[in-house]
Amino acid sequence: MTYENVREADPAVADALEGERERQNNTLAMIASENHVSEAVMEAQSSELTNNYAEGYPGERYYGGCEYADEVEELAIERAKELWGADHVNVQPHSGSQANMGVYLAALEPGDKILSLDLTHGGHLSHGHPVNFAGQVYEVEQYEVDEETGYIDYEGLADHAEEFEPDVIVSGYSAYPREVDFERIQETADAVDAYHLADIAHITGLVAAGVHESPVGVADFVTGSTHKTIRSGRGGIIMCDEEYADDVDSAVFPGSQGGPLMHNVAGKAVGFGEALDPEFEEYAEQTIANAKALGDRLQEHGLELVSGGTDNHLVLIDLRPSHPDTTGKEVEEALETAGIVLNANTVPGETRSAFNPSGIRAGTPGLTTRGFDEDACREVADLIYDVADAPDDDDLIAEVSARVDGLTDEYTLYD
Ligand SMILES: *Cc1c(COP(=O)(O)O)cnc(C)c1O
Repeated sequence: MTYENVREADPAVADALEGERERQNNTLAMIASENHVSEAVMEAQSSELTNNYAEGYPGERYYGGCEYADEVEELAIERAKELWGADHVNVQPHSGSQANMGVYLAALEPGDKILSLDLTHGGHLSHGHPVNFAGQVYEVEQYEVDEETGYIDYEGLADHAEEFEPDVIVSGYSAYPREVDFERIQETADAVDAYHLADIAHITGLVAAGVHESPVGVADFVTGSTHKTIRSGRGGIIMCDEEYADDVDSAVFPGSQGGPLMHNVAGKAVGFGEALDPEFEEYAEQTIANAKALGDRLQEHGLELVSGGTDNHLVLIDLRPSHPDTTGKEVEEALETAGIVLNANTVPGETRSAFNPSGIRAGTPGLTTRGFDEDACREVADLIYDVADAPDDDDLIAEVSARVDGLTDEYTLYD
């Protein structure tokens, strides 16, 4: 894509857009929730559908002029059904958080009870944190991971559910490196007569490719972001059984949104189409293989991983055992200077603050899209270790930066 028209109309914005392209081309995007979509997805997202008002659903819109919006939305829905095997799909949520809001509105009354994973243990703000609307409208309690093993404490969750009697149990996480046992959480939800919302925001692509257990057909509601491992247009998605279809649809529109972002829905349709290609399964498998290679090498260097490894696309490093005086933020900043972009993250049993936590979260979806294999990820692990070990060493940072340049030159991204 070129920004010719933006350049002519608005050089300041064109500079920033080109700066961002350069930044993505020349750095390693290891924020576990990020990915690089195809030029086709980006083109669709910048289409004339941005001008269209398509309030309502295909075939039942409030305004005229929606025949192409209908085509695009129907394609997105059909492809999503095929990818995840869902009965009913709503592709209109503006984001993953909006998808969760839609489910809460469909399933709960204000004051109802949510049981979700603690944010510092890998949960998400939209699962009922006090700063999020869900924490203000609903009564929220949280379950945890076992701090010894780093795995979800399924027994603790079952006991907590029995005691708290939640209306909904939320599974699915932002910083959890292990496979989630959705069936087991469903059993707990059934035992206390609660709904189960499985938020697969991070692992949408892994589930679609069949390389992670699927909650579709197990949990009552499944939500996701559509721009993470699934690599489609930016936004959210809700999947559910037919029995909840009307409630979910009216909770999204008019319950919590106005006109859908039809250009983004077009991006979702294109990205879902790409994910139906058998090559996408290879991508998902490689993403996990890369995370395992990254994690193994980090451990060989003596860094400790929460849960001792990974089953998915991310690793969570706890710096405290190997580097008790170094914070995640320091390492994040030093790595960014060197061209490796990831984020400081809380770890189970966090002893620092959320703003300057003890962990580092690193994901492989973006690197795998660029073509990285296990060897290249092991090289990245060496670089991460070197910087974590000496975040104040400017000569070292310069050396790492040069090796990052070598990698980004070898594995190119956008023209
Ligand atoms: C990323 C994420 C979301 C929110 O997605 P947005 O699209 O950023 O709103 C929700 N839940 C989980 C578990 C996530 O990781």
